Amino acid sequence: MLDREARLISEGGRLVIELSSTLPGDQRRFSVAHELGHLIITARSGSGSASPGVHMAASTERLCDRLARELLAPEPAIRGYLKARRAAMVPVNQVSCSMIVQAASDFDIPVEAMAARIVHDLAIAPRTMASLWRRNSECDNPVFPRVLHLASIWHPRPDLALATRDSLKPVASVASEAFRGRSVLRAERDLLIAGAVQRFQVEATRFHWFPAFAGVPAERAVLALLTR
Ligand SMILES: [Zn+2]
Repeated sequence: MLDREARLISEGGRLVIELSSTLPGDQRRFSVAHELGHLIITARSGSGSASPGVHMAASTERLCDRLARELLAPEPAIRGYLKARRAAMVPVNQVSCSMIVQAASDFDIPVEAMAARIVHDLAIAPRTMASLWRRNSECDNPVFPRVLHLASIWHPRPDLALATRDSLKPVASVASEAFRGRSVLRAERDLLIAGAVQRFQVEATRFHWFPAFAGVPAERAVLALLTR
């Protein structure tokens, strides 16, 4: 997830985790935990060296992200946290954008990591898909306006056929509204998922993705939840 911002290097016979100084605190913590994941995998596989600076197959990177989430948001801690707060917020087996954003802040990890933890790893809301939308900074010209694009999507059951990115386009309008607005947006939408049109409750909220630094403005992103 945040790999380009951190790497393992070998320095004077020691392993060092190098981090980009522009990373906000929550993403630093996550990056360090991700790199520790590489060390854990290397130790478990018995291959001897952690291959400093070299990153591996996408499946290994996903596993390191998962290990980072396990380290920074252990299951008993998350379940206890949600149990203490959920009753007042939303019914059992449901999640809300504000719940995920607040939990990310309280555990000091990125919103993206907390959404993956709650929705995918722990499958706390079996009927909900979570998605993260970011503005495409590579398309900053009048012909290709900076539109929101789907950066990540999580589902409690990864074995189910997930929507392709295109089939989720209608949510973009809700996500765009949330991106411009201030409050949490809720709407009902018919979406084409896995070949069939289904009605979803959509909830979307924008959040602070990246702080301003060195003249680069702060970046926002949108977390959207789709519940059937
Ligand atoms: Zn990695």
